[in-house]
Amino acid sequence: MKELLGKLNTAHALTLSEYEALILGMDEDSRTYAAELAVSHRKRIYGTDIFVRGLIEFTNYCRNDCFYCGIRRSNRNAERYRLTSEEILSCCREGYRLGFRTFVLQGGEDPYCTDDRMVPLVKTIREAYPDCAITLSLGERPRDSYQALFDAGADRYLLRHETADSLHYAKLHPAELSWEHRMQCLRELKEIGYQTGCGFMVGSPYQTARSLAEDLLFVQKFQPAMCGIGPFIPHRDTPFAGRPAGTLEMTLYLLSILRLIKPDLLLPATTALGTIHPRGRELGIEAGANVVMPNLSPTGVRDKYLLYDNKICTGEESAQCVGCLETRMKSIGYTIVQNRGDPADSAETETKCSQHV
Ligand code: SAH
Repeated sequence: MKELLGKLNTAHALTLSEYEALILGMDEDSRTYAAELAVSHRKRIYGTDIFVRGLIEFTNYCRNDCFYCGIRRSNRNAERYRLTSEEILSCCREGYRLGFRTFVLQGGEDPYCTDDRMVPLVKTIREAYPDCAITLSLGERPRDSYQALFDAGADRYLLRHETADSLHYAKLHPAELSWEHRMQCLRELKEIGYQTGCGFMVGSPYQTARSLAEDLLFVQKFQPAMCGIGPFIPHRDTPFAGRPAGTLEMTLYLLSILRLIKPDLLLPATTALGTIHPRGRELGIEAGANVVMPNLSPTGVRDKYLLYDNKICTGEESAQCVGCLETRMKSIGYTIVQNRGDPADSAETETKCSQHV
């Protein structure tokens, strides 16, 4: 394992079977070694800086029926909500005051969120916050929609590929959703000029070492700006209720490996990671992650954006959420910085926001 990790550490590329061997060979030694190498790359590029993205979960209506997701359209128990533009802008205002320079608008694939509604919203945010990055995570849309949103001022787009193995994809999604289309969307986003984020769940049902190896090879080839990974966690009202969650160890190991594949990658320590372990996000940072995404959604809707069971931070105010993450990051020797957090933003040039919050 040490040899393979050493090779990845310098070449930033392996073959499919080498990735598979790395995954099958995970043990405490390989995890520790991978994390050591990952942290040293991150330190060299980003120092001890941790970037924050303010997450606004603005709608939980969804036209899709993904088998793993708690806001899938067939879940009659999900209480649906949609924030108005005014509510979204007020989240941005609060976020800006708290020091955020990136807003992430995430939601289900809500048919209400047409270009006619989203383009003016993005324009308004762009004009009000010229110094902030706008990230969208609205699922699959036609290319001209991605283009219109980009032209309106969006900079980044998060669309997890979910799995790079098309047969695995078909076991996680109903037949009307296609792996080819998901991948096509990712290519289009990149071509348009978005800083594009892909990603996958760790431990999703039917996942194998081979399919994870495919995910790693995909990241190596696609070279995304960001890669969001977190453990799969079952939701009680989905077909995957009662399935085991992804493990902390495998998630941390993959975070380290992803850092070795692309040393300047933006890698979030996700809420799902914080959900399966009380110190999951800190451990994620110590494995090589460099982004945290506190929730800026209004408290009244937080407990409705439930993709999986037992999600953390659903009862807190935005300010509490930021303060808590700040303390957590400080406790392990890292600093949350107040900048847009573009790839490989230098560690020295930006103001720290610890005093600000
Ligand atoms: N509709 C948007 C946003 C999806 S929600 C889109 O399609 O991109 C963001 C991510 O949450 C998903 O991409 C998925 O990887 C993750 N997710 C959904 N259900 C989950 C679960 N049960 N456990 C862990 N992560 C989950």
